Amino acid sequence: MAFIRPDFILFAFLFCLFVGVIAFNRITSTHKVYLAFHFIMMMWPLGQFSVRMTDIPEYQLFFINMSFVAMGMLGPGWLVFVFFLTGRGSQLKPSKLLLYISPSILCIIVSMWNPDHIFMSPVSGSYLERMYGPMFWLLVLVQFAYFFTALMNMFQAMKAVTAVYQRKQLALALIGMFVLTGFGLLDVLVNVLLDRWLPVVPGLTASGILLSDLCFVIAIYRFGMLDLLSMAQRDLIEHMTTGIIVIDDNCKVLEINRGVSPFVQTSKGEVFEMDKFLSPMQTQGEVYEFLYRYNHHPYERIQMEYAIQDAAGRHVSIQISPILDERKSLLGRMITFHDVSELRKLVDEMNRKNEALHERNLELITIQEELFRVNTKLEQMAITDVLTGCYNRRYLLQQMEHEVLLNVRYQIPFSVFLFDIDFFKQINDRHGHLVGDEVLRSIADIVRSKLRRTDILARYGGEEFTVYLPHTNREQAELLADRIMHAVSSNIVMAGDEQVQVTISMGVVSEYSEEVSIEDPKEYLRDLFSRVDAALYKAKNEGRNRVVTAY
Ligand code: GH3
Ligand code: MG
Ligand code: MG
Repeated sequence: MAFIRPDFILFAFLFCLFVGVIAFNRITSTHKVYLAFHFIMMMWPLGQFSVRMTDIPEYQLFFINMSFVAMGMLGPGWLVFVFFLTGRGSQLKPSKLLLYISPSILCIIVSMWNPDHIFMSPVSGSYLERMYGPMFWLLVLVQFAYFFTALMNMFQAMKAVTAVYQRKQLALALIGMFVLTGFGLLDVLVNVLLDRWLPVVPGLTASGILLSDLCFVIAIYRFGMLDLLSMAQRDLIEHMTTGIIVIDDNCKVLEINRGVSPFVQTSKGEVFEMDKFLSPMQTQGEVYEFLYRYNHHPYERIQMEYAIQDAAGRHVSIQISPILDERKSLLGRMITFHDVSELRKLVDEMNRKNEALHERNLELITIQEELFRVNTKLEQMAITDVLTGCYNRRYLLQQMEHEVLLNVRYQIPFSVFLFDIDFFKQINDRHGHLVGDEVLRSIADIVRSKLRRTDILARYGGEEFTVYLPHTNREQAELLADRIMHAVSSNIVMAGDEQVQVTISMGVVSEYSEEVSIEDPKEYLRDLFSRVDAALYKAKNEGRNRVVTAY
């Protein structure tokens, strides 16, 4: 029968809640504070109930003291819990915590000591009815001071938060605090101050404790008050396509998400053996290096890509990151798996295309070089005479059109030779065209050997040649013409066993700029060549093998 007393029922309720919160929540540090707080709250109704279960005054005193220890811890408990609720729990240093709870601890010590019944005295030898002294009131007052401080803290936090769910949580917690304070005050009022006039109402404070606790439990379940963010993070991690395994420093799996299953089969509590896991991939070059660093450098962040040897040929990027505490010592490691097959395919495709492009480029370069060679050859062929290797007449005239203008402008003297092989027809007739050709080639070589690099030797037509000599005045030109004439006449070309010797007749014309003005270069050149042609004609007429200068 004694068990249906309200204090016991309330205790039972609180105990069930206590168990429920432990059973259905993951334990965070805020949870731990909450549970310690809840445990203290339970002690009140338990003490209140137990005191009525015995007639022995010493036991009664023990249970009452238990209740009041619980009550004395309620205020500081609230304050600390509120710190955690408003997200400042982690900033609470042990020294500060001690300072916060010390007033209440002191009150409890003095109350338990109870010198001169300063806290409480039994009425007619029993503690079931008792008289409270000034220490009791101080204890109550200190508790209200704690509640008040906690309330202020919550109001401040309410002002700061903007998220609706956080406001709702704090509002519920505030309601819980008001209910508890209200019931506590009512208990003091009814059962202490007005106890002479009113009947004893048991379980008032305990009801307040239960109701406020209910507010918390609702807040915990409806709004995930204690760890909404970590729940959200968990959910996010759980549904990521990236596989995540967290192992401790002994490679035991602590956490694992769903994303891991396509990559590796393991479960919480198992030991994850990297060597064994990577053993089918050992043929891949990077694996040895990766394993070595995994085994010998646990503080390093390492990454590798490996190919799974299956039909799909998937590529996976595996990354290891160390998990360190504030002192930078290793707590464990995080292993992530990421399917990079698509990316790999794209990169491979791109590489293939790049290679093809590179090859095509090389081909184009070769073609371009070939074209350049052919072009140069064509250009060369367009301006040279195939038989003798001299320039042709067209090229000579083109160059001269340009040169003569410059010569006149800068007053540079220049000369032109025109020479023709004497009786060449006879060479052809006697020795054949091939020997004739050889003679032509040989004369071109001899003349070229007597010229400067800037002079231009051209085949004017048939067996006639012409030479353009810049920076050459008449005397110099005549001297050179003589030298050429003699060099040719002393040259011997072999025609079988026979020696072939030829002479040339040459017309020379020299121009000095002061006397010249050019209107039309083409016209001027026509006139110049008719003059030198006349000189050549004269040389032929005067008996050949000679030089005639045109004036
Ligand atoms: P002349 O002293 O008056 O100049 O007498 P010639 O025999 O040289 O007379 P002409 O200028 O009329 O004859 C030129 C000859 O040169 C005619 C032609 O057959 C020959 N000839 C022209 N071009 C070539 C060539 O490329 N090769 C060979 N073998 N003979 C050529
Ligand atoms: Mg001739
Ligand atoms: Mg001729």
